Amino acid sequence: MADVFYRTPRHSYPRAVKGEGCWLVDSAGKRYLDGSGGAAVSTLGHGNRRIIDAIQGQAEKLAFAHTAFFTNDPQERLAEALSRRFCEPGAKVYFTSGGSEATETALKLARQYHVARGEEERHIVISRDGSYHGATLGALGVSGTRRRAMFSSMVKEWPRIAPCYAYRGKRAGESDPDYALRAAQALEDAILATGPERVAAFIAEPVVGSTLGAVAFTSGYFKHIRRICDKYEILLICDEVMSGAGRTGRYLACEADDAKPDIVVLGKGLGAGYQPLGAAICRQNIHDVITDRHGGLEHGHTYIGHAIACAAGLAVLAEIEERNLLEAVQRSGERMMSLLTERLSDHPNIGDIRVSGLLAAVEFVEDRQRKTPFRSERRFPSAFRLAAMKNGLICYPDGGNVGGHGAHVLLAPAFIVQNRELEEITERLARTIELLLPARAAA
Ligand code: PLP
Repeated sequence: MADVFYRTPRHSYPRAVKGEGCWLVDSAGKRYLDGSGGAAVSTLGHGNRRIIDAIQGQAEKLAFAHTAFFTNDPQERLAEALSRRFCEPGAKVYFTSGGSEATETALKLARQYHVARGEEERHIVISRDGSYHGATLGALGVSGTRRRAMFSSMVKEWPRIAPCYAYRGKRAGESDPDYALRAAQALEDAILATGPERVAAFIAEPVVGSTLGAVAFTSGYFKHIRRICDKYEILLICDEVMSGAGRTGRYLACEADDAKPDIVVLGKGLGAGYQPLGAAICRQNIHDVITDRHGGLEHGHTYIGHAIACAAGLAVLAEIEERNLLEAVQRSGERMMSLLTERLSDHPNIGDIRVSGLLAAVEFVEDRQRKTPFRSERRFPSAFRLAAMKNGLICYPDGGNVGGHGAHVLLAPAFIVQNRELEEITERLARTIELLLPARAAA
């Protein structure tokens, strides 16, 4: 046990030994209700028979054949299925082993596409504050999160704009359409300040996951973003590692604005925790321009297009389609919103409750009127994680992304969650909040 380099080495972790539906069990027999699928990963819960069988069946036929030499059936079939889910026909799918690798792929696709078109100068990727695109240095470089602080001298300082975050960004009396336009206008301002001829792409999470906590865009925002990207021939990359693969009740969250990205990045729910799997999906013309000019993308990892991972991805997609799970996500999301609102909206430290399908968050504030974020010195997110686990709840607290402060808790139950489990998640969450903020709860 002591030879593992743990995430937090001084912390003592329970040992997970079993998963059943929305529940995890540790070696002492304690049961945890998995209210966040870890970090919005386990979209189909634990122990899904069909996915297990698909993995076993593929392992017996072929586990791995390097993609420099071969293609394989599961990668071909999953690419075809994902291409059909993209906003226009003919999209090409580049598989990876996770979200960060998929972001790296998207960044390189954008750069090489412009080089292939003869626009050598285009290399800058504009992104947003309050965003997370991955832990590798390229992906971290375009992220706007406290997690980049330690490595800021090693990554690019490219422009970042404010996120579309109505709870904190919308002015008093401002209409939704006006706010959506103003938030998107920040991109045009950044492009002009940088020099459009130097900008390759803009990357954003349609529903911001861990950094801000289930922050959905205001309707119309991505339509404006698309228009601005088109005007300056800049590629639009939607990072749907957390919000995609059905999490918000649509296969891709950006579909809500009919925004038609050039590249979509997927991870987490693509393999649903059964296998490490990610993908960058791009429009056909990006693929064709690169292929015609250079013969292919100058990129590659050993495990791309892994046969077992892709077989798991196919089984995940089949479950979502055949069991109508996108509709289930929409229904359960509405139920979760009413449960959270009923149980928590009176609490003086809860500033906002947000739900997009089954991606939900509660944002904590010192003062509801002023929306004062929790001070980072309180270390509230880590205290919350421990207290929730004691209460038998897995949830995903995070913070530090509102001017270095702020705290929220993210929930992302499996798409198969039952109503009684949603009630139990809400109850355990509320009990944890009341435990940590008792005086305020009584106020
Ligand atoms: N992009 C988003 C939006 C994410 O939430 C994450 C992970 O949390 C990533 C990228 C990175 O994915 P991975 O941790 O699989 O590398």
